[in-house]
Amino acid sequence: MSKPVIATTSLAGCFGCHMSILDIDERILQLIELVEFNKSPVDDIKTFTKPVDIGIIEGGCCNSENVEVLRSFRKNCKILISLGECAIMGGLPAMRNGIPVEECIEEAYLNGPTVQLNKERILPNDDELPMLLDRVYPCHEIVKIDYFLPGCPPRADLIWEALVALITGNPLKLPYEVVKFD
Ligand code: SF4
Repeated sequence: MSKPVIATTSLAGCFGCHMSILDIDERILQLIELVEFNKSPVDDIKTFTKPVDIGIIEGGCCNSENVEVLRSFRKNCKILISLGECAIMGGLPAMRNGIPVEECIEEAYLNGPTVQLNKERILPNDDELPMLLDRVYPCHEIVKIDYFLPGCPPRADLIWEALVALITGNPLKLPYEVVKFD
């Protein structure tokens, strides 16, 4: 029988949630027995090569590329999980949400205390660059999300229990100590 297929991505995140996936430690050997990874930084597969059963999203959407990737995950994955506070509510990147985009760009490239080498006051303007969104969006405001695993990052035990429950169809055991919201 073929194994369930998993894909993961990091949008506007710090890869801490992916590190927490790896923090399942030696259980990663069991995970490899249980599932096959497709598009993911874990195996460095860049594009979907088959339908995916479980898509795991780290990070919210701060630019047009994030939205494109998230929509492609929704299209290619039967189940989509928002992993961590950035995916669930925007997290730290959403601290810019109360500031106009123009002001953020000017602070980053023109007026910030660490800007020293931009004497011609050039702002990034290449067509290849993703466009910043007006604010950082949690994933469920862009596409339908099936499950939310909280934490910054979520505990490895929570990720493990959730994945095993989804893969085996068994009820999810959620002892208080595996769930955290910070
Ligand atoms: S939730 Fe925390 S660990 Fe995960 S991507 Fe955001 S800042 Fe990083």
